[in-house]
Amino acid sequence: MIDKIVIANRGEIALRILRACRELGIKTVAVHSTADANLKHVLLADESVCIGPPASGKSYLNMPSIIAAAELTDAAAIHPGYGFLSENADFAERVEQSGFTFIGPKAETIRMMGDKVSAIKVMKQHGVPCVPGSGEPLGLDNDENLKIAKDIGYPVIIKASGGGGGRGMRVVHNPAALIHSINVTRSEALAAFGNDQVYMEKFLEKPRHIEFQILADHHGYVIHLGERDCSMQRRHQKVIEEAPAPGITDAQRHKMGERVVEACKAVGYRSAGTLEFLYQDGEFYFIEMNTRIQVEHPVTELITGIDLVKAQLRIASGEKLPWRQSDIVLRGHALECRINAEDAKTFMPSPGPVRLWHAPGGPGMRVDSHMYSGYAVPPHYDSLIAKLITYGEDRETAIVRMRNALAEMVVEGIKTNAALHQEILAHAAFHQGGLDIHYLERRLGLK
Ligand code: ADP
Repeated sequence: MIDKIVIANRGEIALRILRACRELGIKTVAVHSTADANLKHVLLADESVCIGPPASGKSYLNMPSIIAAAELTDAAAIHPGYGFLSENADFAERVEQSGFTFIGPKAETIRMMGDKVSAIKVMKQHGVPCVPGSGEPLGLDNDENLKIAKDIGYPVIIKASGGGGGRGMRVVHNPAALIHSINVTRSEALAAFGNDQVYMEKFLEKPRHIEFQILADHHGYVIHLGERDCSMQRRHQKVIEEAPAPGITDAQRHKMGERVVEACKAVGYRSAGTLEFLYQDGEFYFIEMNTRIQVEHPVTELITGIDLVKAQLRIASGEKLPWRQSDIVLRGHALECRINAEDAKTFMPSPGPVRLWHAPGGPGMRVDSHMYSGYAVPPHYDSLIAKLITYGEDRETAIVRMRNALAEMVVEGIKTNAALHQEILAHAAFHQGGLDIHYLERRLGLK
């Protein structure tokens, strides 16, 4: 087993990784910016190293500083968490070249999946269904692009190959708007991602977002842990997630699960990963793969009883997966609400000192949070301050527990979006389940 790791992240996920290390007897090194010296996991880690000023570009994205911290502390591996450098193939490569283990897939896999056109191509090749689309980056021939759109059928969506975080996409409803939209998306993509490659897909009008979790070891063994429904989104950002996805049958799960496992085997995938799909009218369409642990991983942990972060650490240590596919049994239902430091109505960030933090508890309740009374939420980073995760023998029990948990939770000093969650959970439509990805924005009057 790896004896010591650098946790190259912050906030709740850094604490989550630290806790997994504690269980496995792995020593931890926290790296942090000057704004984050008082983060809970920094205070709990065996060692800590300050890697730069508050701006992420100079700290959490500063590859030489992070690798230097690993050298300085004689760590064996680096866990990137999610966001920041977690899907940066160059970072994974530099970590390995410096003699450390990158806790994640091989750099070449990250690179292949990071380019959406190549990810779609490889998935399609291995039998995973994809959204009807250009299949290739769009060229500069306007007539050719008009023909591709006509063949796919309007509306279409123009997407940046190197896009992420819900940016670099544009929906086109008719031929008159196509060429201009391609050009604008191209220049936006170049500015945002340093890559002007774009491609075209059929725009699905009312899809759900359903994703499959997989685990793969270094010995070519791959399993899936079922799916999550993450359709409750605002600006392409997930707000509530759940597992399993309402209405998905065992037969559907089995069929898609087998396909994603075969595809991951074929590309030599290793570590934890997620294949994201849009689901509409009973069909799944692959859109992208995330080659890292995800924010919403706990809902899968609660229904499978498998600790995904510990699995990542074991896999990185070279261990074989101890489970066969038939060992994976989904039990009950889990729900996650992302608690952000923001106004529940205007969504304006609300950083500052937390005067009082009281976490909810009771049966079926898990809280992943780095908050404590007296902690000050810095203004420089993502506003996620806590994840409330509930489990129940059925979906209704998980929902009731979540509503109780939200009512029990106390955060004073800063604003949170707890009221938004309460409102969503109170609605009959949510209880019915199976809502599409545009539901929340429609409710909020944004669409
Ligand atoms: P990102 O990497 O930026 O998250 P994705 O390809 O995962 O980009 O797409 C993000 C979101 O954009 C999806 O969850 C969905 O809401 C919307 N979207 C993407 N492709 C399509 C499509 N073909 N039809 C409808 N909506 C789409």
